[in-house]
Amino acid sequence: MTPCVFCQIIEGKRPARILYRDEQVTAFHDVNPQGPTHVLIVPNRHIGSMSDVEAADSELLGAMLLAAAQIARQADLRGYRLVINTGAEGGQTVWHLHIHLIGGRQMHWPPG
Ligand code: AMP
Ligand code: ZN
Repeated sequence: MTPCVFCQIIEGKRPARILYRDEQVTAFHDVNPQGPTHVLIVPNRHIGSMSDVEAADSELLGAMLLAAAQIARQADLRGYRLVINTGAEGGQTVWHLHIHLIGGRQMHWPPG
């Protein structure tokens, strides 16, 4: 089985620019940034995608959102976008749940 890239980062087995970590959540810079700020917020426990979350994950999901808000505040962003690509048609390419925090430039709508 191919090891999960984000689990490897969380376990310290793969290098990443980690900027936040607590018991439930890790955040690191995206290797292919889509803006001046592009951070990924991931649960420390492996969850494949939003398709896999359950009611028991509500605290963890809240912790991810709060971490995203805190990181955005610390980066002093005037605005930002949070994205959770879900499933192949949703544009997901890494199968470990993650929130993209993108900011530092004008965002546009609709997304591609
Ligand atoms: P998604 O397409 O929503 O699944 O997003 C996956 C994101 O993970 C992409 O923006 C990639 O650039 C990013 N990514 C993939 N591998 C790494 C890595 N080793 N370190 C940091 N970011 C990564
Ligand atoms: Zn994983």
